[in-house]
Amino acid sequence: MSSQKKVRVRFAPSPTGGLHLGGVRTALFNYLFARHHGGDFILRIEDTDQTRFVPGAEEYINECLNWCGISPDESPQNPGAYGPYRQSERKASYRQFAEQLVNDGYAYYAFDTAEELDQQRQIQPNFRYSHENRLSLRNSLSLSAEETARLLEEGVAHTIRIKMPEEGTVSFEDMIRGRVTFETNLVDDKVLLKADGMPTYHLAVVVDDRAMQISHIFRGEEWLPSAPVHILLWEYLGWGSEMPSWAHLPLILKPDGNGKLSKRDGDRLGFPVYAMNWKDPKTGDLTKGFRELGFLPEAFVNMLGVLGWNDGTDQELFSIQDLIDKFSVDRISKSGAKFDFEKAKWFNHEWIKRLDNSILLPQVVAVLASNGVNQVDEEYVEKVLVAVKERMTYVSDFWEQSYFFFQAPVSIDVDAVKPKWTTEKTAFFENLMSDFESLEQWDSTTLEPFFKAKVASSGMKIGELMMPFRIMLVGGKFGPDVFLITELLGREEVTSRIKKALPLF
Ligand code: GLU
Repeated sequence: MSSQKKVRVRFAPSPTGGLHLGGVRTALFNYLFARHHGGDFILRIEDTDQTRFVPGAEEYINECLNWCGISPDESPQNPGAYGPYRQSERKASYRQFAEQLVNDGYAYYAFDTAEELDQQRQIQPNFRYSHENRLSLRNSLSLSAEETARLLEEGVAHTIRIKMPEEGTVSFEDMIRGRVTFETNLVDDKVLLKADGMPTYHLAVVVDDRAMQISHIFRGEEWLPSAPVHILLWEYLGWGSEMPSWAHLPLILKPDGNGKLSKRDGDRLGFPVYAMNWKDPKTGDLTKGFRELGFLPEAFVNMLGVLGWNDGTDQELFSIQDLIDKFSVDRISKSGAKFDFEKAKWFNHEWIKRLDNSILLPQVVAVLASNGVNQVDEEYVEKVLVAVKERMTYVSDFWEQSYFFFQAPVSIDVDAVKPKWTTEKTAFFENLMSDFESLEQWDSTTLEPFFKAKVASSGMKIGELMMPFRIMLVGGKFGPDVFLITELLGREEVTSRIKKALPLF
């Protein structure tokens, strides 16, 4: 790549289902690289395999990128000057390149029918169409020129396959892995153009990356074995000098480090591996997502940003802007990154703590509404949020942590109080209620010393009275600081809760 070339990267998913977190990380790293270098981030939908196309998957991808805050600069929805952005819409343009490769001796027509190939697989379970056997199969290399011409003229169904060199190597500089070399004789003769006229991924990816002037390719490590085919195609098509730079991102591994994290691991271990809920339109099966579980996009993106990348320090919390500023390819690790769900939860917890209340507030108001609490005073909700934030892992935890701020407790843990209850304690709380009336200031900094002084003059111990007080207000031994609860509930509500609870003890 020449140094003046504008940075243009692409995320190129196939619309086959929900997005696995590895896919979102690929999108994110592309985005970070583009933004870091002032370049363009492109979404290309790779839908040439019609048999795997799933309705709704493209919409899911768009929604997911938007949710993560990494919207593309160019996409099927928002096309730029390099369209179309769906491969199927480029169908007509691929054949000429496949034909060019045949004419130049880099590819050939293959007339083997699906049944013939199946037969081969039955004879040889490891069957590969390659230099080892291509001369004994039905293709333009094994047939005479006349026979080939006749078959083509008759319109006999055929594919076009790349003719991998029998010997030699393909070598390239991976931005993450350094020099990578492949023996070409180990790679099979991939189909480039299918019998239905559609290109396969291998041909389409090269033609499109060139047409869209892609400068750098960041994709998952699972594509590394395909790289020699792609590199040869760039060269065979005469575009070698325009070839983008390559980077194959390390895999995201299962928590125990044994192999790639799969959708099934999530089901087995009880955590999501998809970004958002995905409902399979055919089976109706629902695969759970991080979003619906209560992850903030800020936390999800932060967690993915450090899966296989670090800034060289111990810092773990990064906003997307921090990630853009600090992103550098040389800090992407070569080895796989283990996925740790507990750590993912920690990121969410940290982001709930650090995120601006104005961003969290509407989400928390929605949590209240879904629990039947409508028409809330937002200023009050914000105070409650500040009081319980520290205790939340998910936004939805807000209800569990704070419901007693919005409704009187439905049950009171009487058993925790009753056995040690005395008439002296009843008198203390009756007295407290009347003293509350004359208290001028109603805030935790006034309430705490006031309560403690009263306890001291009663001769009882602080714990003996503070725990029952808490239970009267919230129903059990939980919640934030009791004086903060007292402050927020307000004089009237506190008095009413004490009044209701006292007869129970
Ligand atoms: N369509 C491929 C996928 O589904 C893209 C691979 C690439 O980025 O080249 O992941």
